[in-house]
Amino acid sequence: MSAELKYHFASDNTSGICPEAWQALEDANSGYQPSYGADSITAEACETFRSFFETDCDVYFVFNGTAANSLSLATLCQSYHSIITAQEAHVETDECGAPEFFSHGSKILLARSPLGKLDPSDVERLATSRTDVHFPKPRALSISQSTELGTVYRPGEVKGLGAVAKQHGLSIHMDGARFFNALTGLNCAPADITWRAGVDVLCCGGTKLGMAVTEAVVFFNKELSQEFAYRCKQAGQLCSKMRFISAQWLRILRDDTWRRHAQNGNTLARRLADALGHLPGVQILYPVDANAVFAKLPEKMKDALKARGWVFYSFIGGGSRLMCSWRTTESDVDAFVADAVASV
Ligand SMILES: *Cc1c(COP(=O)(O)O)cnc(C)c1O
Repeated sequence: MSAELKYHFASDNTSGICPEAWQALEDANSGYQPSYGADSITAEACETFRSFFETDCDVYFVFNGTAANSLSLATLCQSYHSIITAQEAHVETDECGAPEFFSHGSKILLARSPLGKLDPSDVERLATSRTDVHFPKPRALSISQSTELGTVYRPGEVKGLGAVAKQHGLSIHMDGARFFNALTGLNCAPADITWRAGVDVLCCGGTKLGMAVTEAVVFFNKELSQEFAYRCKQAGQLCSKMRFISAQWLRILRDDTWRRHAQNGNTLARRLADALGHLPGVQILYPVDANAVFAKLPEKMKDALKARGWVFYSFIGGGSRLMCSWRTTESDVDAFVADAVASV
């Protein structure tokens, strides 16, 4: 008999909706409200974003990260521009060409990224390698925070990339599908790793944090957000019953709910990495700065874990990826580790 499949560590998308977001949906479900974002809950949610980031930013809610990334990149670039990013970047590897599609052809230029992070010198090199009309003009820099390899850029690192970007006329896009995991690990102000470091637009992840179908596109540079609402609508990304999305954001940003959930994922990823890292033959591949653990597991251990039902992927980062979320518990981690130990 085969074991029941256990998706606990397969992705932060396997974890469902957190109680606070669920309650917010419930609470928003009374009476009538204007549609398409003209309601008071949406106005309040956007205002809460402005307080959170301590600046007068422009906020839009879309349904997923691919839309957030590709629509925002399309506002930064014309079809003849290029976007510099890391070789593992989600915009390159996991969006089915949506950034190229929505920008009508902007080319993605890939930089080396040890530990998933871009180095300013590589950005500089790509930004200056060609200046002739035969090559698509570099116009944007896209960085992921936290990165696809579970590492996190420190405020100074974002600032360093920001400085190089500004010097070469690149706008900065931040793919923050796991922004809150990065933020809670850094213990700095949200502004310090975004607009104060030069970020022009942030795709701020709600879904992986525990919300239902939403990412926020936050424009710190308001010149870039002109007509963005039309872009969202045309792409089928304007929610008619917007209050259900806004109500969740309002709830999650208040009372540090975001921090509690992000911290849970990060703390348990740390616990998992510490325990696995002590087992013979296991190598933890990258610093565990957020909620991801990348581990090189002996084949025998991998097989034993899979035989016991654990599902996890090895399509990125050269090892097995184990994700923790708001829902992960210490006993989930301990059960996984016990099964790993049993295989040794
Ligand atoms: C999950 C993820 C996204 C968003 O993906 P969708 O499936 O489109 O919501 C974007 N960037 C990164 C780095 C991600 O991990």
